[in-house]
Amino acid sequence: MTKFIFITGGVLSALGKGIAASSIGALLESHGYKITLQKFDPYLNIDPGTMNPFQHGEVYVTDDGSETDLDLGHYERFTSTKTTKDHNWTAGQIYEEIIRKERKGEFLGKTVQVIPHVTNEIKKAFYAAADKNDVVIVEIGGTVGDIESQPFLEATRQMRLSLGHDQTVIIHLTLVPFIKTSGELKTKPTQHSVRELQAIGIQPDIILCRTDRALHQDIKAKISLFTNVPLEAVITAKDVDNIYEIPLDFAKENLDKIILKQLNLPKKKRSLARWTTLVKKMKSPRDEVDIALVGKYAGLQDSYMSLNQALYHGGIAHQFKVNISWIEAEDIETQGPEEILGDSDGILVPGGFGVRGIEGKIRAVTYARKQKVPFFGICLGMQAAAIEFARNTADLENANSTEFNARTPHKIFIKWRELKGVKDLGGTMRLGQYPCNLEKGSFAEKAYGSLRIYERHRHRYEFNPEYEETLAKAGLFISGKNPDHDLVELVEIKDHPWFLGCQFHPEFKSKPLDPHPLFKAFIGASHAYRSKRNTDKRKS
Ligand code: GLN
Repeated sequence: MTKFIFITGGVLSALGKGIAASSIGALLESHGYKITLQKFDPYLNIDPGTMNPFQHGEVYVTDDGSETDLDLGHYERFTSTKTTKDHNWTAGQIYEEIIRKERKGEFLGKTVQVIPHVTNEIKKAFYAAADKNDVVIVEIGGTVGDIESQPFLEATRQMRLSLGHDQTVIIHLTLVPFIKTSGELKTKPTQHSVRELQAIGIQPDIILCRTDRALHQDIKAKISLFTNVPLEAVITAKDVDNIYEIPLDFAKENLDKIILKQLNLPKKKRSLARWTTLVKKMKSPRDEVDIALVGKYAGLQDSYMSLNQALYHGGIAHQFKVNISWIEAEDIETQGPEEILGDSDGILVPGGFGVRGIEGKIRAVTYARKQKVPFFGICLGMQAAAIEFARNTADLENANSTEFNARTPHKIFIKWRELKGVKDLGGTMRLGQYPCNLEKGSFAEKAYGSLRIYERHRHRYEFNPEYEETLAKAGLFISGKNPDHDLVELVEIKDHPWFLGCQFHPEFKSKPLDPHPLFKAFIGASHAYRSKRNTDKRKS
């Protein structure tokens, strides 16, 4: 029978519950157990697809095309689990289902209530991803005490009651802050947040203490005494420079052993060698590369979480440190590309929506193309690359996507449903995994080492087939196509060290232990460019 680990959070949000859950997943996998992870978000939106990325961070897309919370990205990066719609639930989805049932008369005239109806629906969702897994790790979003979180915590309490201690582990993540003025670590916030849990009938089994320094035994003893949690189950979760160290840090605190003991799961031989090697490699880079990321940030890098990580993974593949400069595309419109991009070893234009900054992105492409700086365009970045090529190489003046100029004389990108021969699929976005056939000898084929790939999409606009021939004749290499709909998925420029734009989002499938081939190739090309530039500089 599948066992459950519930992870709740206290004191404040953004303590890294998702990464903690993922690291626990990695540890259990290192013992050979089959695990998966789920996230329950207490907000009322049905999914984060329509939420502001500056507020909510990246929307992570799964193979089945669900738009999910960014924590699911951590789940897939740290473990071998494949997430789907069954792995991310919001209060909005749960309530929608209840209301649908109520309208259909499925409650047989009963009063529909939070307990038991909402909690039953939540408990059903806890089992949605259980499948053949030994353990499901359930992350409860929000913090204890939030009004919205209550039904999820109540459902957790009921799971413990019905399944017992050897089928469930409840882990509470809190903050143990260091107060500079008194020079002390403070346990009071932890005491209070555990008391809030206890007040609703939940006794945590393990306390994960987020802190900036190792916790001494006496602090742990105090937390143990006040929270009713055994001393050995008070775990230090110290801040780290590199999130991939966390599974190893937790292992040092014996977190995996405590969990396995409680769940009555035999301790198998733990094998963390791949994680140890990974961290060692990251700590001793052979060299570095400077990558310019030309996007729209408003200061929040969480909206490019997977991309950020995929770039680091590309570095890990070569044992290089990747330095990312976050560049506002609009600054390129005012200051020009040379000044801003002049020191970069590689230029990446990521995905995005809306017209703001698009001309700056296109100018960044011109710069990369002409100066022969390695270029990687992802989704909107690929569209910017094709538009730039249409305007400046194929002489199609004012070429654009209809997203940015509906009246452009050359519609290089148009909405999918406007395309002849492709039926309207209901939604307006192309979402989830699609196959793509690659051309022999392309940068893509060399990177993947295969002629058929599968990647995830999230976009509304598609390369307009009417312009394929014109742009190809002018020298744009169409190196990848969707075999079912004959859609252009990849464009490249041959006479260039590395210039590639893809309509899909490869960053969603990159992992630290298995870096994505396109990111590996891009970082490799950027490093070669850096070395060449350094040699040229020395010569002159
Ligand atoms: N805005 C573009 C589109 O909808 C690109 C989307 C993206 O980059 N994810 O097609």
